[in-house]
Amino acid sequence: MAQASFTHTIDGKAETSESSFDVVNPATGEPFAKCPDASKAQLDKAIAASRKAFGPWSRLSFAERRKAIADFAHGLAARIDEIGPVLTKEQGKPLGQAKWEIGAAVHELEAMCELELPTQIIRNDGKHRVELVYHPLGVVAAITPWNFPIILAAHKIAHGLYAGNTMVLKPSPYTPLATLLMGEVARSTLPPGVLNTVAGGNALGGWMTEHPGVDRVSFTGSVATGKKVMASASGTLKRVTLELGGNDPAIVLDDANLDEITPNLFRGAFLNAGQICMAVKRIYAPDKLYEPLVQGLTKLAAAHRVGDGMDPDSEMGPLQNKMQFDKVMDVIEATKRDKRARITTGGHQLNRPGYFIAPTVVADAQDDMRIVQEEQFGPVLPILRYSELDEAVRRANDTRFGLAASVWTNDYEKGAEVAKRIEAGTVWVNHHVGSEADMPFGGFKESGLGREIGSLGLASYMEPQVIKVPLRA
Ligand code: NAD
Repeated sequence: MAQASFTHTIDGKAETSESSFDVVNPATGEPFAKCPDASKAQLDKAIAASRKAFGPWSRLSFAERRKAIADFAHGLAARIDEIGPVLTKEQGKPLGQAKWEIGAAVHELEAMCELELPTQIIRNDGKHRVELVYHPLGVVAAITPWNFPIILAAHKIAHGLYAGNTMVLKPSPYTPLATLLMGEVARSTLPPGVLNTVAGGNALGGWMTEHPGVDRVSFTGSVATGKKVMASASGTLKRVTLELGGNDPAIVLDDANLDEITPNLFRGAFLNAGQICMAVKRIYAPDKLYEPLVQGLTKLAAAHRVGDGMDPDSEMGPLQNKMQFDKVMDVIEATKRDKRARITTGGHQLNRPGYFIAPTVVADAQDDMRIVQEEQFGPVLPILRYSELDEAVRRANDTRFGLAASVWTNDYEKGAEVAKRIEAGTVWVNHHVGSEADMPFGGFKESGLGREIGSLGLASYMEPQVIKVPLRA
């Protein structure tokens, strides 16, 4: 096992902890590094450093903060070749995709700092001038999950810091290491205390959300934890955004060109081994296209190369952790027992160490099956049949989730009309998965609260204030 060389970043300095925990490589199932486990005292110190840094940082102009965040982004870009393999070893994704994730984070850090929220004059009627002014909130607690630790952190850093706040960032205990390296980049590019990174278990997350020194919580993770975060943050009425799970439907219309859309649908479902909040998690296909679509997706899934992310031939890595592997295998076994469904490819783990599951396509999936009702968060794709479009829309909406969705058709405007009837925060036409710097992202229903990214995302890191000034005649 490699020696521990990963450190928290607190007040611009490296810190280790008295205790540490193992980080497991999901491609082997074996620990490969140790991560320091932050104590409550270290969290207090990081929050105090953030508070101290907040005054000077919040008084900088947007342009000055944009420059500092661009320096941080360049520092990250310079270390892609070093951080990429760490991300692959802890997360499992193929190295090319790990490097892509860090490169995308660099791009989004820069692109998300293009907006500003200048003072708006709401009214100027000769009697009064009414202004709407935006203030940064203070110290942000940012908490990320294990599927895209770097890019999800980048969204929070970009808008949170750019708005004038300072931050304590905590990655998932399953994938803490690449984030701690991001903290190293902050040490040399941002003023001390502006961005602190601390690693630890779930308890550390709870300490952050209840801490009286925190003003704003930005949480990305599961619905169950999101509910705990909201309850915990209520103690001091912290501002909260929750980016939670999804069970995204993709509705294929009967005019769709299968040759064009099938590879994109496949990518939208199986990228990152299906461990994406906004992955395609259920496909609704019309009678006319049903069998050809099942065959097309089955062919792609059967040919998909699964292996260790460090192997250049791998297109898909393992599930990230044992708990998630067991959960997905349990849903697959339940699907197999239900004789109404047909597993057309996959449906088993790979015969090797690590948490590998063969890409799995489930035809004839039914509305009441777990694989349709739950967020599977793995490489298993159910395909449901429909006869009438209205019925497909109703079934797609029949869920407590509402993160994202997609409509697949040759008639893009018709696709846009159908999109408006789907209860989800983002609906793409002929596309699924991705974030863009000007597109606010978040969920309907239990998929979340509030929005990150874009103008709504930036505003969510600020407090609006109304100023009413009488004018002399
Ligand atoms: P999780 O909820 O188990 O953990 C997420 C983070 O919360 C981790 O850092 C964890 O340590 C921390 N945490 C755990 N308990 C906590 C508590 N009581 N208080 C505060 N923090 C706590 O989620 P996960 O399993 O790491 O991630 C998978 C889930 O994340 C999926 O449901 C997925 O859909 C969702 N997700 C959502 C988005 C989005 O943008 N909507 C993006 C990626 C992942």
